[in-house]
Amino acid sequence: MGFVEGLKCRECGREYKVDPIYVCEFCFGPLEAVYDYKKIKKSLNRKKILQREKNLWRYKELLPIDGEPQVGLNSGFTPLVETKNLARELGVKTLYVKDDTVVHPTLSFKDRVVAVALTKAKEFGFDTVACASTGNLAHSVSAHGAKAGLKRFIFIPATLEASKITAALIYEPNLIAVDGNYDDVNRLCSEIANKYKWAFVNINIRPFYAEGSKTLGFEIVEQLGWNAPDNVVVPCASGSLLTKVWKSFKEFHEIGVIKKLETKVFAAQAQGCNPIAAALKSHTDVIRPMKPNTIAKSLAIGNPADGYYAVKVVQETGGCGEEVTDQEIIDGIKLLARTEGIFAETAGGVTVAVTKKLIENGCIGKNDTTVICVTGNGLKTQEALNGQMLKAHYIPPNMESFEEVLSNIK
Ligand SMILES: *Cc1c(COP(=O)(O)O)cnc(C)c1O
Ligand SMILES: [Zn+2]
Repeated sequence: MGFVEGLKCRECGREYKVDPIYVCEFCFGPLEAVYDYKKIKKSLNRKKILQREKNLWRYKELLPIDGEPQVGLNSGFTPLVETKNLARELGVKTLYVKDDTVVHPTLSFKDRVVAVALTKAKEFGFDTVACASTGNLAHSVSAHGAKAGLKRFIFIPATLEASKITAALIYEPNLIAVDGNYDDVNRLCSEIANKYKWAFVNINIRPFYAEGSKTLGFEIVEQLGWNAPDNVVVPCASGSLLTKVWKSFKEFHEIGVIKKLETKVFAAQAQGCNPIAAALKSHTDVIRPMKPNTIAKSLAIGNPADGYYAVKVVQETGGCGEEVTDQEIIDGIKLLARTEGIFAETAGGVTVAVTKKLIENGCIGKNDTTVICVTGNGLKTQEALNGQMLKAHYIPPNMESFEEVLSNIK
């Protein structure tokens, strides 16, 4: 038996029973899972968590499933790396990277949300899963769905990087490449979701799917020795991850796993798709949708479903939003690789470059403990680095040629 009491509208508070639904019938507000925290407090504590396997299900009481986990049993519990070289370079004392570029089977944080969404889809009795994706979600639903024996329909913008398309197709889903941007794909999928009885992980299963992001936050707290950081920098596409990282800290506080919670939450976006950062910079909570144009395609959602709530979290915690250019994103990817040996995708470049700016403009203090969320692997977005790398030294196979090269290396 699970600990979810039902779903609740975030706007008008109306309550619903657990079903594959996502909007309030009365006010069209988004629905969210509601838990019985008193009951959870009695059955979940630090000791119990520590005894469990190191995957994202070690916090299962705080995830919206009723039975046992069925999907993603090898996902989660990614490293929290103390990045001393990067900290030195950026001029701060304590900096960590939550490294979701590794461990996950499809090498991005989407394996967290998909593990929860597909477990829930199975509980609901669906035999077909689907998603609207900017890339990483396509990989994750394709792979985990294959293992779970589910039929899969994956919708992507046709302009996605070739390597991202390959990394979905290898799992042999039905891949539908739509001539349009993510927001067009999403609109089409909402229509399809109304007509076909499929579990669209980020549409009709969204209230459950989104909860999977909390595991990133739970892990950060556990890996900091049961402490929440002073600052956390989170990349934003729909804004869901950011709201759920904050929710995870609040839940750990609520059930007594941590005593103190004073974290500031910061939103990181690309200048070419900055609806959340722009709202924060102009001190409003009104999201103005835009047409994305950035190399950070995994974050390219021009009309973010959770944008308003992400803005609220940042404002409420005293953080701020920041944005970076495509060149700064590339420099961010290179900086992280050069200093820490971590190869992040463009979304990671966004987070690193934004963190650099936040330190430079004083939003992040030099003595704070800061965690930056690096959410996807660089092998997936190599195209973005074309023409931006050092060149190899090409030589014939003899000592002379090598030593000539060597004499030119400082
Ligand atoms: C999906 C995604 C995000 C953020 O997703 P939200 O829609 O804001 O929850 C961040 N990084 C990567 C690499 C992603 O694929
Ligand atoms: Zn409502």
